[in-house]
Amino acid sequence: MARVVVDHLHVWYGKTHAADDISLTVDDGEFCVFLGPSGCGKTTTLRAIAGLIKPDAGDILIDEQVITKLYPGERDIAMVFQSYALYPHLTVAKHLAFPLEAKKMDKATIAAETQRIAELLGLTDVLDRLPRHLSTGQAQRVAIARALIRKPRVLLLDEPLNNLDVRLKLQTRAVLKRLQRDLNITTIYVTHDQEEAQSLADTIVVMDNGRIQQSGSPMHIYDQPVNEFVAGFIGTPPMNFMRCKVERTRGRGTYLLGPDGFELHAGDALSAQIGDLPDDSDVTIGIRPERIALHTEPDESLPLGHVHIVEPEGNDLIISVRVGNAIWKVRATKAQFGGRLQRDIPVNLRIDQSKLHLFAPGTGQRIEVLNQVNLTP
Ligand code: ATP
Repeated sequence: MARVVVDHLHVWYGKTHAADDISLTVDDGEFCVFLGPSGCGKTTTLRAIAGLIKPDAGDILIDEQVITKLYPGERDIAMVFQSYALYPHLTVAKHLAFPLEAKKMDKATIAAETQRIAELLGLTDVLDRLPRHLSTGQAQRVAIARALIRKPRVLLLDEPLNNLDVRLKLQTRAVLKRLQRDLNITTIYVTHDQEEAQSLADTIVVMDNGRIQQSGSPMHIYDQPVNEFVAGFIGTPPMNFMRCKVERTRGRGTYLLGPDGFELHAGDALSAQIGDLPDDSDVTIGIRPERIALHTEPDESLPLGHVHIVEPEGNDLIISVRVGNAIWKVRATKAQFGGRLQRDIPVNLRIDQSKLHLFAPGTGQRIEVLNQVNLTP
C-alpha cells in the first residue's frame, strides 16, 4: 500500500514560486504523470516528494504518515532521473544486486531477484557488461531496474526516456507501463511530452506556472479541458482556436462570427453551450483537428477555408487550412482524399459542434456546457 498525498505544497527559489499551492493525491498502484512546459514546477514537486527539496510550506504524506521532515533514504522511495548515473566499474548484475545487498538479503535471493528483474527489462544478455559497453537504451533500463528491484513503496521518474531515440522510447515506455502494472507500484512520472503522458498515465496532472491546471484521466483531460492552456497543450496537432463574437439575428438563429468573414451557424448543441451569453460577447472557440471534416463541394452554409499544406502522417493527412488569416489543422484519412487536395483549393469546414469548446476571453476558462442533455447533434 502506498498512497501519496501532497498537501498545499509551496516551494520558492528566491522570487520564483516554483510550486504554488500544489495539492494532489496519487492512489495506491496508480500511474500519475506530471505534465507541463519547461519550468512549470514538475521537477520541483517531484523532488519535494523525494525529499531532495525542503518545501517552504505544505506537507507530503504516504499512507497517512507525514513524511515531510524525513530524509530521502527514510522514505522508501526510488527515483530515476533523465541522466541515469551508473557506476563505471560495476557490471549490470552488480548494479542490480547493490540495493538488495544493502538490505542484507541472502545471496541466493539476490541472484534470483536479479535474474527476474533482468528478464522483465530484457537485460539478461548484458548482466556481465560494464556501463560503457551498453547502448543508451540498455543503460536507461538498468537505471529503471535498479530502482525497481528493491520494491520501493513509490517510484518517481523524471523524464527518464528523454535520451532515447523514438523507437527505443516507445519500446521502453511499453515495458515500463507493463512493469508498473505487474508490480503495482505507485508511480509518479514527469514529462513535457503530452503523447507520452497520454500513453502512460492513469491520471495526468497538467501544470503551468507552478500551479496545477487540471488533473484527471487522459481521456477526461482531452475531452473536457478546463481552460485554453490545457486544451492547447494536449493533442497533436493542437486544438484550433479562434476569437469570435456571439450574434443572434432575429429569425436567423445564433451565429459565431470570427475575423475575415468566418461565420458559424450554431446548431442546438452549440446554442445550448452559448446559453444566454449576451449578443456581441467575445468567446474563443476551440476545435480539435479530427473534429473538422473538409468538403470540396461548395456549401454556403459552412465556413470556408483554403488548403495551405497537406502533410501525410501514417494513414492520415494533416491538412493546414487557411481560415481568414488563421491556419487551422485538420486531420483526415488518406482514403478520404487520395491525391485530390491541391494547394489553395477552397474547402468547406464541417465542424462537429458537439465537440466544440468555448473559452472565456481573458481568463481562458472553458464556458461550462449549459445543457448536457442536448449535446448530440
Ligand atoms: P523542466 O521540464 O525544464 O525540467 P520543470 O517543470 O521541471 O521544468 P522546475 O525544474 O521545477 O520546472 O522549475 C520550476 C521553476 O523554478 C523554473 O522557473 C526554474 O527556473 C526554477 N528553478 C528550478 N530549480 C531552481 C534552483 N535550484 N534555483 C533557482 N530556481 C530554480
